[in-house]
Amino acid sequence: MQLKKNHSLKKFNTFGIAAKAENFYSVQSESDFLDALKSAIRPLFILGGGSNLLLTKDVKGLVIKNEIKGIKIERQFKHCVHISAGAGENWHELVLWCINKKLGGIENLSLIPGTVGAAPIQNIGAYGVELKEVFVKLEAIEIASGKKKIFWKKDCQFGYRESVFKQKEKGNYFITKVFLRLNKKHNLNISYGAIKNTLKEQGIKKPSIKTISQAVIQIRSSKLPDPAKIGNSGSFFKNPEISKSQFKKLQKQFPNIVFYDLPNGKVKVPAGWLIEQDGWKGKRVGHTGAHKNQALVLVNYGKATGQEILQHAKRIIDSVNKKFGIKLKAEVNVY
Ligand SMILES: Cc1cc2nc3c(=O)[nH]c(=O)nc-3n(C[C@H](O)[C@H](O)[C@H](O)COP(=O)(O)OP(=O)(O)OC[C@H]3O[C@@H](n4cnc5c(N)ncnc54)[C@H](O)[C@@H]3O)c2cc1C
Repeated sequence: MQLKKNHSLKKFNTFGIAAKAENFYSVQSESDFLDALKSAIRPLFILGGGSNLLLTKDVKGLVIKNEIKGIKIERQFKHCVHISAGAGENWHELVLWCINKKLGGIENLSLIPGTVGAAPIQNIGAYGVELKEVFVKLEAIEIASGKKKIFWKKDCQFGYRESVFKQKEKGNYFITKVFLRLNKKHNLNISYGAIKNTLKEQGIKKPSIKTISQAVIQIRSSKLPDPAKIGNSGSFFKNPEISKSQFKKLQKQFPNIVFYDLPNGKVKVPAGWLIEQDGWKGKRVGHTGAHKNQALVLVNYGKATGQEILQHAKRIIDSVNKKFGIKLKAEVNVY
């Protein structure tokens, strides 16, 4: 087992925070991981692409960098296939692999950074599609016992940017493989205005999984700050869901409030709108701030520490709460 001591994590998190791992170990297989478990070094911290992470301090114990690869068609059915992907595969490369094989279902999730293994942790979603719609099961190893466990869809308790792995089982398992069901006969989802408009601009009348993926890539590249140029972790906050009665009161006070009615009777208010109305969009404070085009995205202008970004997030949460009576919650995992 090749351990690296006091290893810089700056290149391993998209915020570009210069925290260090006391011990760092890359695993390419389950048996590499079981070797790591045999070492007495604890606690363990599992790292994927570091794109949903704010490091506010050095990481004690052992950082396990997941590099388990391999994509495979597991089962063929008349209208769909089941595939498996090693948890260390890059998510977007998996999307491209599926499109290349004419398998539909995750094209709307193109260009989401990070690894396949982290996708179930927050049930990744974008442009009207969530991972849970194609998810079959995952394989994981329990950190306390070293035993393998299967989590079926119902066991994962998926919700909006949520799963059992962010709640009851937080930090308890290392996800090693994910199984998805993809369609041979495609059910295209172009419900989002931005996708419709982009396809129209490109003169595409009969969209395919490939052209939808390309449209999503174009929209995302023009809208979201690229972590390679400016450190960020995508949406820092979740969009809050509030009760209808709370929403009605707010609407009286703020008639132009943006909202979406949800099937569960609640109302979703875009966190980006709240942050923008509160004056934080594009405002730089020290080395951080909410991005000028995307208020939901906190950025590192180069020299920010994790603590500085966390303090700024708290400032925004308090300020939005004072103005609207809504307490924003972080989507990003804060360590
Ligand atoms: C520019 C940008 C855009 C984004 N857009 C979206 C978007 O549209 N939709 C969306 O849902 N997300 C989005 N994200 C967030 C992020 O890409 C996803 O949450 C992604 O799934 C994180 O993957 P990762 O491998 O980088 O996870 P990491 O950041 O490495 O880890 C996240 C958490 O999962 C844990 N973890 C990681 N891998 C494993 C594993 N194998 N087993 C157990 N625990 C594990 C870690 O310990 C950590 O707590 C965006 C991020 C960025 C930077």
